[in-house]
Amino acid sequence: MQQKQLPKVNLGFFPTPLHQLKRLTEKLGGPNIYMKRDDLTGLALGGNKTRKLEFLIGHAIKQGCNTVITGGAAQSNHCRQTAAAAAMFGMECHLVLGGSEPSESDGNLLLDKLFGAKIHWSGDFRKGEKIPELFMELKSIDKKPYIIPYGGSNDIGALGFVNAMLELKVQSRNMGVHFSHVVFASSSGGTHAGLIVGNDLFDCNVTLIGIGIDKEELPAGSIEKQISLLTGTTSSFMCFEKNVYPDDIIVRTEYLGEGYGVIGDAERESIKLLAETEGILLDPVYTGRAMAGLIDMIRKGEFNSNDNVLFWHTGGSPSIFHYGNDLK
Ligand SMILES: *Cc1c(COP(=O)(O)O)cnc(C)c1O
Repeated sequence: MQQKQLPKVNLGFFPTPLHQLKRLTEKLGGPNIYMKRDDLTGLALGGNKTRKLEFLIGHAIKQGCNTVITGGAAQSNHCRQTAAAAAMFGMECHLVLGGSEPSESDGNLLLDKLFGAKIHWSGDFRKGEKIPELFMELKSIDKKPYIIPYGGSNDIGALGFVNAMLELKVQSRNMGVHFSHVVFASSSGGTHAGLIVGNDLFDCNVTLIGIGIDKEELPAGSIEKQISLLTGTTSSFMCFEKNVYPDDIIVRTEYLGEGYGVIGDAERESIKLLAETEGILLDPVYTGRAMAGLIDMIRKGEFNSNDNVLFWHTGGSPSIFHYGNDLK
């Protein structure tokens, strides 16, 4: 297969571990549950953005850039991993974070600062509106800035998850286990789009179930439309055509609760359950919510008892220390 020149840098340690959750499986009495540990990518306490950033930082360097700009929420895992990746390559990192500076920096924000990121608070402009301005400003002082989109979710970033699907296929073959379903937190869509393209390209034959994390309107209208567009551009990068219609994309939006970053009983239950039965930490915003969704689906009998269901742990642990009061 012909592939365009896509420089990639190494930011983590792959493949990430994949193992069975025997005690959780027993406790829930449903399908066999496995977990893919992208919380252990090795970059700055881990997470799914590591895979995307390998391609995005590679692209930035290839373009001759020496500064990266990205944005997100104050507790963004994406921003924390971007700040660490930039540090590894001696690049300057600018983060545009929604809201105003909190009196105390903890969780991901504390780590952003340790990695030397320059932080710009954008108040009510929470969707990157201030990024073009900053880009021009940095250019005018002779920096060479490169914009990384929110969540690292464009066709370049999504390539990280096309690769991840191949990684999964090899692990699955070595273990002699076919995964019928893969369940994961889906937010800006790059993870989901990459997995869809990889699933097709490498004939993995897996049902992909994204659990929606936030209600926010996306540029494309709905999360399914956003993911559909991304699968198109990502697959054309790989020089094959893959059109996935929004109706064929599964994003379960019934677990949104009170919205992004608002911790409810469902998240508290899943975080405690995984901690107490498996010694595994989930995060309050993404993986705790996604696991709560999986638990609910199991309880509703949506899987067969001989299904092998893989939960893709996408990281997020540092924010536990920010949301401590909500977890008590
Ligand atoms: C960003 C993030 C996700 C969502 O990934 P997208 O590619 O934005 O959909 C899931 N889990 C964690 C912990 C994240 O930081």
